[in-house]
Amino acid sequence: MAIGRNNPVSVLKEATTRMEERIETPYPFGCNGAVSLTFDDGLRSQLELAIPLLNDRGLRATFYLNPRGKDPKSEDWFQRWIGWREVAEQGHELGNHSLTHPCSQAFGSKILERCLETMTLEEIEADVLEAEKRLRLLTGNPERSFAYPCYQDFVGVGEKRQSYVPIIARHFVAARGTGEYPDNHPLTCDLHYLWSLKAEFLRGAELIGWVEWSMRRGRWIILTFHGVDEGHAPVSRIALQELCDFLAQSREIWTAPVVTVAKRIRQWRQSKVSHPPKGGE
Ligand SMILES: [Zn+2]
Repeated sequence: MAIGRNNPVSVLKEATTRMEERIETPYPFGCNGAVSLTFDDGLRSQLELAIPLLNDRGLRATFYLNPRGKDPKSEDWFQRWIGWREVAEQGHELGNHSLTHPCSQAFGSKILERCLETMTLEEIEADVLEAEKRLRLLTGNPERSFAYPCYQDFVGVGEKRQSYVPIIARHFVAARGTGEYPDNHPLTCDLHYLWSLKAEFLRGAELIGWVEWSMRRGRWIILTFHGVDEGHAPVSRIALQELCDFLAQSREIWTAPVVTVAKRIRQWRQSKVSHPPKGGE
């Protein structure tokens, strides 16, 4: 006997397939929004303070590295960065932050030979892809997000200034910059220039306040940290600990690396497109 459309087994199977295809919300498990904790530049305090603090609470973050070494042709870089392999194995994302961290010369008072103003699109792409080759060797993982060094997404100056966002979009699932808001609407944000909150010098209560504000609005907030109790843009260990305690205790907040949230949002958007609302195409 052929199994008809109204056969209960067939109907159930069809319904299950539909549920698998359709992702009702951009966030899993009934969460109101998402939080990504990101740490830039591979600083020592991230290995020594941030990672144990995150691991103790079951939280996973993104670490944006510049895997440079003294001699790019030698294996020097590998010895220098091998300690991070374990971090990737623990489930954290090792993101790409370019190889040489090029920024605008406008931060300083000297004309520079090599800076974003003097680089071409080809040069920035080569720099980012060399970092990518090394991160893949280090982690064995081909999928990650990118963070624009100094949050800047251009090369050239004046009439010759061009965005390098399209190049990044060709190679990465998502990319983090900064923006008008510290958070992102899952439907409308540009996944290749995500907005983030510069979290340096903020206290625990302030960090938690920003997260609560984003969750009330159903958004994805990305917090950018550098050193923990060290460096030029630090957050204190106690502030980070207060934030992590809050995130670990909340069942309504999805805390995950940037690449993980971006992939879920991408899938959710595709599912919305393939299932238009009733009455509309
Ligand atoms: Zn940086």
